Amino acid sequence: MTSYFTTAIPYVNAAPHLGHALELVQADVLARHARSRGRPVRFLTGTDDNALKNVAAARAAGVDVRAFVEGNAARFAGLREPLALSFDDFISTSSDPRHAAGVERLWRRCAAAGDFYRRRYEGLYCAGCEQFYPEAELAGGLCPEHRTAPETVAEENWFFRLSRYTDQLLEILESGRVRVEPRARRNEVLAFVRAGLADFSVSRPAARAGGWGIPVPGDPDQVVYVWWDALANYVTALGYGTGDPAYERWWVDSAERVHVIGKGIVRFHAVYWPALLLSAGLPLPTAVFVHDYLTVDGAKLAKSAGNAVDPAGLADRYGGDAVRWWLLREVARTGDTDFTLDRLIHRADTDLANGLGNLVNRTLTLVHKYRAGQVPPGARLSGASATLAARIDRTLGNFDFRAATDALVSVVDEGNRLVEDTRPWELARAERGGDGSATELLDTVLATLVATCRLLATESQPFLPRGADRLRTQLASGSRVGHPVPAFPRLSVPHVK
Ligand SMILES: [Zn+2]
Repeated sequence: MTSYFTTAIPYVNAAPHLGHALELVQADVLARHARSRGRPVRFLTGTDDNALKNVAAARAAGVDVRAFVEGNAARFAGLREPLALSFDDFISTSSDPRHAAGVERLWRRCAAAGDFYRRRYEGLYCAGCEQFYPEAELAGGLCPEHRTAPETVAEENWFFRLSRYTDQLLEILESGRVRVEPRARRNEVLAFVRAGLADFSVSRPAARAGGWGIPVPGDPDQVVYVWWDALANYVTALGYGTGDPAYERWWVDSAERVHVIGKGIVRFHAVYWPALLLSAGLPLPTAVFVHDYLTVDGAKLAKSAGNAVDPAGLADRYGGDAVRWWLLREVARTGDTDFTLDRLIHRADTDLANGLGNLVNRTLTLVHKYRAGQVPPGARLSGASATLAARIDRTLGNFDFRAATDALVSVVDEGNRLVEDTRPWELARAERGGDGSATELLDTVLATLVATCRLLATESQPFLPRGADRLRTQLASGSRVGHPVPAFPRLSVPHVK
């Protein structure tokens, strides 16, 4: 039973910001968790190189488009190390030879289904979104995402017969064949489909695109619309267009095909993309998980606004685990979340340094002090510990990262309570005084603490890969444990800026 996880592929008109890190980390947790349960996993990310806004940004910077795109794409790929990401593949849609071949094949399949026609079109276009907006969806005449005035564009384009798929889309969304999570997003998509779907334009004149993009098969004066091109990456990266068996293995045969995306592009993923796949006769995604946005110090996170927060810089300074933990633990399931440095530091210190790290530290210290590093028999996992793995499976199955981190924290709290309630140092004193029942109780307490810490080290790995590895090294396995070394630094000490 294989699993396939993807992020959206961001535009590369600027460097990555903290919102990109959120999505990458969420998908990474899903991928690592599935692997930890023994499932074969493919985790894909990449960059959307073929957008007109990339061209515009490169020109504004006075840089060659390809060099500009490749430079920013490298910065996205470069988040792997600081954020400890485990993606298996990274697709750059302009330079990866697998991509154009797959886009062409997908296009030809939809053409063969009779789903394209040419039409002259005039509409209001937001270059930031790379989409036409009906007037009713504008907010006071402005793009609802960018708060900028769209431009009037009149041109002849290829159109896709989206309207034809209305009933099928309703069926797959209502039945949950394509799960859209959280529920509020599913309802939003259903309302959009029920209101009636209009065919949408899926190409642009090559001249307007500055020659950038993938030519429409059989019509080189047009390039494939950037969203069609971008959505296709989920199958082109598997070699859909090049006959690679990876496509069968990870798309056709996977038990789950999960897209992690931001709320601004739900319609593309939950309506347009399934419609294209239906048209081409390919399997649909099984789930689309939608996250909200981050704000920084109360302001909308925007590349142009200068508050983007460089995730690599943040990880360099505070550690990838601290950044991951904040993103997973504090970002709300629905509603935007405000990032501040104080919150990141407070969360890491409370949960990681003083919580998980301290529990392991005191456990190992006690085992060395009273049992010479030898793990006694008699571990008894109960309460939150006994159900931790199942609780993480369930919460991540619902894409509820906060609830999953709650489960970890409740086990840490349980471990710390065990120490405070049983007072091992008093048991040790009684043991020295010849109390045999104290020996047995101390054995059980220490063994239970070691088992709890080992469980936490294993179950926290998808969330905190590096810290969890440090914990596992100290905790070892079998009957001996290593010496305690702080696994999570305390961040609130005065820090060099
Ligand atoms: Zn826009």
